[in-house]
Amino acid sequence: MSTKRKDANQLNMHLAETTSSLKNRLQGGEFVVQFETPLPLSQEPFDSAVENGRNLMKASKADDLVSGVVITDRTRGEECHDIVEVAEALMDAADAPLVLTFAGKNRSGQAFRELLARAESAGISGILSVTGDRSAEHPHGDQPGKRRTKARPDYLDSAEMIHRIHHSGANVLIGGTVNPFKYTVSDQYLQYYKALRKINSGSDYLVTHIGWDMSKLQALQWYLQMREFSIPVLARIALLSMEEINQIHEDYLPGTPVPKNFAAMLQREASLGYNQSLSAQLHRIGLQAAGCKLMGYSGVQIRGVSGQETANMVINRIREALNTYSSYPAWLEAWKEHHTDLRFSPLLNGFYTFRNLLNTDHPMYEPDKCPLTEESFPQPSGKDRMHAGLYRFLNEPPLLSSLTQRIQRLLCPGCDNKDSCRPEYCEYLCPAECPKQLMYGPCGNSSPDGTCEFGGAPCFFHRVLALAAAGKKLDTLESGIAS
Ligand code: SF4
Ligand code: SF4
Repeated sequence: MSTKRKDANQLNMHLAETTSSLKNRLQGGEFVVQFETPLPLSQEPFDSAVENGRNLMKASKADDLVSGVVITDRTRGEECHDIVEVAEALMDAADAPLVLTFAGKNRSGQAFRELLARAESAGISGILSVTGDRSAEHPHGDQPGKRRTKARPDYLDSAEMIHRIHHSGANVLIGGTVNPFKYTVSDQYLQYYKALRKINSGSDYLVTHIGWDMSKLQALQWYLQMREFSIPVLARIALLSMEEINQIHEDYLPGTPVPKNFAAMLQREASLGYNQSLSAQLHRIGLQAAGCKLMGYSGVQIRGVSGQETANMVINRIREALNTYSSYPAWLEAWKEHHTDLRFSPLLNGFYTFRNLLNTDHPMYEPDKCPLTEESFPQPSGKDRMHAGLYRFLNEPPLLSSLTQRIQRLLCPGCDNKDSCRPEYCEYLCPAECPKQLMYGPCGNSSPDGTCEFGGAPCFFHRVLALAAAGKKLDTLESGIAS
């Protein structure tokens, strides 16, 4: 029977059960595994395209370690089947928790509101908000610092979506993402601050970007523990297909650095054949999951699992690794032995937030054993200081002379975003200088060296961070979004 046709009582019962099981498991400190399935493209026949999602729901229902499925949004393209219809088809296959990812790319605020209402009434368990990568409709030649390129697509900021869901009263678990795999001091702290902004805006849990650098996953936990933020965090882990491994390069996954030597290792494994490659990946996934658990993660979200048989292999390997590596020193020895001297940083001197990562005898943050790496944020330019100071000064009433109005127009010529623009969240710089016009913090997709996803210049938020640091107002970068 289609979920669409279930009556209101059935829907409410379903919602209460699944939401509560996922929420209780996360908040009760249980380690969970979630499988991802990508939203199918609209050109794919519906029934065959949702088959893998159905299988993953059945695998989830059949095994206690797995706590449901996550549908990722617009990762394969922007012309997709309706995510709520896909969700209903998956929930018909098995009654397991289902989380929908909502990507903000190419989505207006109105479209988001409508989608949220439909998702809630369909009885889904949670919504994971992501800003998303560059839209295929984005005009070429855009880069940070360019204010007015014609007809940019909408990008709804993930923090704003979290704020809106939180205030909508929707009975769903609210998730936000964080990218711990950044290798400049500015990019890394910007990700931490934005994650805290998401928590302060209503996020119930966080999910990391995909990555293999376990030092970075430990650093995120240490940072949250140092700041005394206690929130469930899931680490996103990838199982790659042979086709993906053969094509993999440094920028293969948006926002996820794949170091050359690691890509070479994957390709060496693949050259031995499918079974050897799968076996090596399963071993690594098990080790990653066990390490995450020991470091304080609440679970893992696995991308790339196709078919019930592979799902079972992944579950068995994770269960085996959780049992085998129950102590941190034993896990650390196994991880180091498997990767010998492999360097996961894509930069020669990539930034790590703490010293002693993957080196102490204790996986959790301890102030005297986990010193911060001392590295200052860059200074703001004189032009940015003047722009921000003037903007703030001129917006203090009652300075309304024609001269001040003229200067105001120079600083902010106005644009289609005038009504929603809140430059106080980005140190009074113009948010239109970010190609995605974000104002609450960066997306997760800058390159390892800090260059914007669109190229051409460093991420716009480096300048925001520099101004906030110089003004000793870093806390403003992590404040919740005000209504
Ligand atoms: S309204 Fe906001 S985004 Fe538009 S030009 Fe002014 S400061 Fe920039
Ligand atoms: S400027 Fe930063 S936040 Fe904006 S699109 Fe580029 S990388 Fe993303």
